[in-house]
Amino acid sequence: MVDVFDHSVFNCKFLEQGVVIKSPHLETVERLERRYLLQTALEAQGLQCEACRWYKKENTPGMFYARLGSKEEADELLAAKEILIGGETAQVFAISQKASQKRQPKQWPKKRPKAKAKAEPSPNSLPNDERPTKTCFLCGEVGHEVASCPYWRQGVQIVGATASEEKDLEECLRNLNVEPVSLRCSEVGKPQFAVRLGSARQVRDLAKKSINGQLRLLGRVLRAYPFRGDESISGAEPVAPAAPPSRAAKRDRAAEAKGPLTVQASYPGTPQYTNRNTGTTLRAP
Ligand SMILES: [Zn+2]
Ligand SMILES: [Zn+2]
Repeated sequence: MVDVFDHSVFNCKFLEQGVVIKSPHLETVERLERRYLLQTALEAQGLQCEACRWYKKENTPGMFYARLGSKEEADELLAAKEILIGGETAQVFAISQKASQKRQPKQWPKKRPKAKAKAEPSPNSLPNDERPTKTCFLCGEVGHEVASCPYWRQGVQIVGATASEEKDLEECLRNLNVEPVSLRCSEVGKPQFAVRLGSARQVRDLAKKSINGQLRLLGRVLRAYPFRGDESISGAEPVAPAAPPSRAAKRDRAAEAKGPLTVQASYPGTPQYTNRNTGTTLRAP
């Protein structure tokens, strides 16, 4: 889990900070997107990602080896066993030599054919080797993931509010001139909301307000991350072009800049990665 591959992962001095994250969802996205999703997910749990490496062998599920900020952070995530990545549940494992020797590489079960919209899941009638059909974290319908949700462009992930604050969050969003169509709170990891807004433009507006520290609930700064999804999925509305800021907004921003205190919420842009390791081989179990 360091950049130089002169040792196996089991001899790595950072072994105690390491976890393995298995997520079938991450196999479907491209490399930079995959790293962005992992880092955003860890940040949403208050965890630091010092390094990560995607490992995939043919016919086996792909997995991330991630080095967190400390052993305590790794232990915390291992205790949680699961983490939401891009709205999907991923499993967390310790890096264990014994386990890797015992376990044979296992294929992910074949996906069940997608259920028709609004169909009820019937996990009891499923054969044992199939996973139950997924429920979309954003819209609540069965049979697709957030990345292929027809509403993903109107979807935003909000971190920092708890399930019991749903009504407050709804009001807070209305006060920021965005329209929350639906709010769903996660049941995995620290609470986070998947909120469907009235339009893709509202998502961009809210993300900007979050960067400027304007998304606040009961004195706390919340963070808003637009969901990402499959561009080929036809959206529920045409994607509106970005509008130039109104005169009033410019005035507000100028007034803010002069103010005595400006809170900047941390917000990750699309990360840039060097490819200095291209051509190296990962030595892993
Ligand atoms: Zn290492
Ligand atoms: Zn959906």
